[in-house]
Amino acid sequence: MTEHSCTPQAEQEAHSDETSLNETGFSELDHQFMARAMELARIAESHNEIPVGAVIVYDGQIIGEGYNQSIMNNDPSAHAEMIAIRQAGQHLNNYRLIDCTLYVTLEPCPMCAGLLVHSRVKRVVYGTADEKTGAGGTVFNLLQSPKLNHLVDVDSGLKQSECSDMLSSFFKRRRAEIKALKKAKKAKQQDS
Ligand SMILES: [Zn+2]
Repeated sequence: MTEHSCTPQAEQEAHSDETSLNETGFSELDHQFMARAMELARIAESHNEIPVGAVIVYDGQIIGEGYNQSIMNNDPSAHAEMIAIRQAGQHLNNYRLIDCTLYVTLEPCPMCAGLLVHSRVKRVVYGTADEKTGAGGTVFNLLQSPKLNHLVDVDSGLKQSECSDMLSSFFKRRRAEIKALKKAKKAKQQDS
């Protein structure tokens, strides 16, 4: 949980058990929706896209889903959140996603955070922080900027280690693949 959203109870539990710090304060439904976002992230991974998945929930129901598909669609805007938000807008037949919650495995980037403000999403729950471009408080805080006309509630750290492991093993595998490709290319050049 982030500082601003930590309940006194969650803080107490965090003190008594350090390892449960990230998982306290989330409901059973929060866990279920993040589990679905993780499934979507795995679909992205199966297409060799960075494994990020997102769902939009309204009134206890998923009304939008997305996973990263920038590479396969040649579309730098095809982030998981973007796709889920577009679907949710169509579902609600509204360009505002009032009272909706976004669950996403990775902290939103500045592009998606901007979109979340435009869409008036009420709450964002993200799994793991993005130390390079996170715009939910890690590098930028666009979701809670007093300069913008809408503040989004942010809860972070739900299934943090699973979401983070999925990303790090993806990048590890990709680095190994690139290295193997380079090696094969070099061997081929030496042969010829
Ligand atoms: Zn994004």
